[in-house]
Amino acid sequence: MNSDRSVLHRLDQIDRFPLCHLPTPLQPLDRLSATLGGPRLWIKRDDCTGLSLGGNKSRKMEYVIPEVIASGADTLVTIGALQSNHVRQTIAAGVRSGMESWVVLGNWVGHEHASYLRSGNRLLDEVLGARIFTAGDDETPDDALSRVCDAAIAAGRKPSIVALGASTPVGALGYAHSAVELLQQCEAEGFKPAAVYFASGSGGTQAGLLAGMLAAKARTIVQGISVFNANGQELLGVIESICAETLKLLGDATEIASDDLRLDETQLGPGYGQPTDEMLEALRLLARLEAVILDPVYTAKAMAGLIKDLREERFGADENIVFIHTGGAPGLFAYADIIDF
Ligand SMILES: *Cc1c(COP(=O)(O)O)cnc(C)c1O
Repeated sequence: MNSDRSVLHRLDQIDRFPLCHLPTPLQPLDRLSATLGGPRLWIKRDDCTGLSLGGNKSRKMEYVIPEVIASGADTLVTIGALQSNHVRQTIAAGVRSGMESWVVLGNWVGHEHASYLRSGNRLLDEVLGARIFTAGDDETPDDALSRVCDAAIAAGRKPSIVALGASTPVGALGYAHSAVELLQQCEAEGFKPAAVYFASGSGGTQAGLLAGMLAAKARTIVQGISVFNANGQELLGVIESICAETLKLLGDATEIASDDLRLDETQLGPGYGQPTDEMLEALRLLARLEAVILDPVYTAKAMAGLIKDLREERFGADENIVFIHTGGAPGLFAYADIIDF
């Protein structure tokens, strides 16, 4: 058995609640590649995971839901920014598995425009039927989660907290799965990916991708672009510890080398959810050359990081680079009043 097949085999032994349309497509970005020069670019369409407009959290929830069901809970409780894709996909996973969702939203990003307060993911949370609570100005996320859990218990519910971004070792299994799925698609196309690029927020996507690549013995660079945490060292520590635990769940004894942990912090700009010129350039390029819709918070910043590395000629013309589209396009609508696209 080759290594990626044996990882798939181990993943098959772990409970998974199917939520996603898999495999997501792997598509060439030929017009973008021709415009930028250098390596051949591809895109893995994890924006098309399908669950209530898709995104990367749906893959994580496939592994988290069985854990919640096993705990006997009947209500998902989670927290996120007002335009959180994670919160939307958690609610959707709850709907599919017959659980209520009680969610806390905080406007930590601070945009007060009508589209941001009302449209995008915030609107979808309402459509999906979640109970929505607002984080208090002086309340920590943990305090807000306890408050909502207490309210749920008082109402006779059995709550279970879904971690921020579902970035736990179990959630990250969804991205170990995505890594081997991608390796098989690349093999079918006749190449080995030199690197994968994607947005890194709470770290579970990067941890899972790295675990999958290490367990499959692929030598693909796993390059996160930081879009959320201004403290890169802290985020790398989180990624390393989740990755180590995910490898354990896969029964794999590979050691993580410091060189495996790659985070580009140049694209965060003024902060999470705050536009940058490079983000807007990347968003327009992908829309106008490839008809691929990115989002201002995650994927366009990640694409800006890839474009920067291509301009610095980090890769040769004979190499293949995969950009993982982690979703987030529903959040684009929230920026209608904020950015002149
Ligand atoms: C949450 C999210 C990410 C980041 O994933 P993490 O696992 O939290 O690092 C990237 N892109 C989009 C669109 C997201 O919603």
